[in-house]
Formats: sequence, structure tokens, C-alpha cells
Amino acid sequence: MVLFERDNEIYRDRDALREDYQPDELVGRDEELQTYQAALQPVINGEQPNNIFLYGKTGVGKTAATKYLLSHLREDAAQYDDIDLSVIFLNCDGLTSSYQIATRLVNSLRSEANQISTTGYPLASVYEMLWEDLDARGGTVLVVLDEIDHVNDDSILYQLPRARANGDLETAKIGLIGISNDFSFRDDLSPKVKSSLCEQEIHFPAYNAENLRAILEQRGDVAFHDDVLSDEVIPLCAAYGAKDAGDARQSIDLLMKAGDLARDEDTSVVTEEHVRRGRRALERGRIKEGINGLTEHGHLVLYALLTLDLDGEAPVRSRDVRPRYTRFAELANRDPLVPRRMRDHLSELAMLGIVSVSERNEGRRGGTYREYALDMDVELILSAMMETVELVGVHDSIASYVEDDDAEGSPTLEDFTEV
Ligand code: ADP
Ligand code: MG
Repeated sequence: MVLFERDNEIYRDRDALREDYQPDELVGRDEELQTYQAALQPVINGEQPNNIFLYGKTGVGKTAATKYLLSHLREDAAQYDDIDLSVIFLNCDGLTSSYQIATRLVNSLRSEANQISTTGYPLASVYEMLWEDLDARGGTVLVVLDEIDHVNDDSILYQLPRARANGDLETAKIGLIGISNDFSFRDDLSPKVKSSLCEQEIHFPAYNAENLRAILEQRGDVAFHDDVLSDEVIPLCAAYGAKDAGDARQSIDLLMKAGDLARDEDTSVVTEEHVRRGRRALERGRIKEGINGLTEHGHLVLYALLTLDLDGEAPVRSRDVRPRYTRFAELANRDPLVPRRMRDHLSELAMLGIVSVSERNEGRRGGTYREYALDMDVELILSAMMETVELVGVHDSIASYVEDDDAEGSPTLEDFTEV
């Protein structure tokens, strides 16, 4: 009996929709690529490279553009005998300090047998090793630090670009390329870091629907068989993407989700309906993830607001959320937060799109206040919050959700997972 059979009717190459796929060409980024390429030109000229700072929201092609240009740069640099180019690419997600980055850099310059421990040295000695290893490598060394907004101190962002000027390096010509997903990161840099790192700044703006369409068409051609995508699919994915955040990653994910839904149904055409359903499924996933990432007090605040909403009390002011939150916290054996901190949690929920906020005027006295209401379906929220419900107990208002279609006794998590 055959249990597994290939189902390749929809996809020619599904992997082309995955995060790690590197497209051969970037579409619709000509201006940024031109600036970026010009900033890298000194490398080919055998000159001291520029330090480059790239910024823009997630999914706007910063990493893709960097990999694309650096692979060309490597290839083209190989044509010149007098250029000895090394590229070190480091994603800083999961790294929080200059120390961690410096040890990673040292190890990437060393052989397997000579790796250093990632703890235990004074920072100054790690830098000493780094300069020595860089000089031993020699030539031009480009260090790419992607997602540098994860790093909490800026020592490395000062040390690397300044190493030559400070006399730490003699033979190696080093250039730093810093990439940030966070706009405020640049503004928060100290002036001395800013002036050395941000020699060349390149901003990647969000994509509009037209850009996203071109990107999706390019990717769709690789990923799907001919005539599998019906005409509305790509424009719709692009329109949603532009409305959300202008994030190409998100749009590609949506296209893949739509393709997967069609495949699961054993149809050979992806339709508009698959896109709409895919979007809902992804949205639910994001909200769930958002709720999972909240602290315990975040959950308690959300539980309080959710039950107030079900009681018909929403929209509700922060001070009216407070009594119920306080009671829930006590039931859960936690010390309630002060009002201000509780309000911060409400704002965070609003930022995640779980809660809606409206400003109200106090009438003639002129003050304003905010009111909060739930902006997501109850079952979805509850499914991500069962631990809190268990801790606090089942509030009357959610009883019907918790006991719903539950013939086999007490509620289990399965009862709440998405339909
Ligand atoms: P960022 O680093 O800015 O967060 P990425 O470079 O990772 O964004 O891009 C997100 C996804 O979108 C990747 O799969 C990338 O290949 C794709 N992508 C982004 N911009 C383009 C483009 N201009 N042309 C083709 N694909 C792109
Ligand atoms: Mg990136």
C-alpha cells in the first residue's frame, strides 16, 4: 500500500517561497541598489571600504539586497589579483552584546581547532584577538551585522569602523555594513557611533502594491506550475501586503499559505478564496504568537478586558478595567501592578491589534481619556490564554466558551484550538 505519494500539481518548487531562498534578481529596488553598489565600489578600487548603514522595516529587501550585491562583489573582485576580499556575515538575532558579536567574529576568522570560548575573557582582550586575526587575514574584510537592533550596547559599532584610525589594524582594510529593522535604532546611537557607522546611509522604504506584485510574480513563476494561480491571486496578495506593512516576506508567506490550502484540497488551481482564507489563518497565527509572548500580567489584563467586553461593558476606561484586573491578579496569587503599569499593558495589547483604543473628550473641561475594547474573536484569544484561565478560574462570562461542545468532562486545550 502506498502511503506517501508526491503531490506536485501545484508547486514546481515550493522552497522558492521559503525564508532562506535567495532570488537571482531583485525587482523594483533599482535606486537603492544603485546607491548601495556605489557605496561598495571602493572595494573593487582597492580602497578602504565605506561603512554602510542600511535601515527600513522588516521584509523590505535589506538582507536580500545585501546578499545579492555581496555575491556579485565577490565574484567580480575575484577578477582582480590585487584584491583579497573576505565577507563575514553575522545575523545578530539572539546576540545581545558587543562581547558576543566580537567572540563570534573572532571564531569566524579562526580554524575549527582554534576557536575561543564565548565567555570568560575581558572585552578588551577579545578586541585584541579580533584585531590580530583580522590583520592575519589581511586584504579587505567586509563585516555585515544584520539585525543589529538586537544588540544592546554600541561598543562594537564604534570599535570596528574606527579600528584602522585608532591604529588597531595595520594590514586589513575593514568595512562595516550594519543593517537595522528598527527606525529608532539610528536615532538612539551616540553621536560618535553615528558619525563612524553611518558614513553611507541607505533607507529601504516599504513596498507598495505595485512593487509587491512584481516581486510575487517573479517568485510565483519559480514556485508554481504554469496556470496554477488564477488571475486575482497575486494582485490580492499584493494588495493585502501593501495595506499591512509593505512587507514582501509577509506577502510571500500569504502566497504560500494560499498554495498550501489549495494543495490540501487537492485542487489544481489557487483561487482568491484560498488567499482570503490563508490571510485569516496567518492573522490568527500572528495574534496567537503575540498573546503567547505577553507576560503574566499582560494575560491578566487581557482576561479582565475580555470578560468586561463579554459582559457588555466595553468600550471601557483603564480605571474601570482595574477592579477586575486586581481581582483576577489576587485570584492568581499575584501582586497587582500599579495603574500606570497596568495601562502600559493595555497599550501593548492595542499595539498587537488585539484591543482597540478610542480617544474620548471629557466634555467642556477639555481633558481626553482612552477607552478600550476587544478587537479579536473571543475563542482565538481564549485558546492562547488557557493557563491564565486555569490560574484565575473560569469567569461566568466565558463559561459557555469553555464548556461548549464538551461532552467528556473538563475543558482541554484542544477544545480551544482554532477551527
Ligand atoms: P529584510 O531583510 O528587509 O527584512 P528580506 O531581504 O529578508 O527583508 O526580504 C524578505 C523577503 O522578500 C525575502 O524572501 C526576499 O527574497 C524577498 N524580497 C524582498 N525584496 C525583494 C525584491 N526587491 N525582489 C525580489 N524579492 C524580494
Ligand atoms: Mg533582514
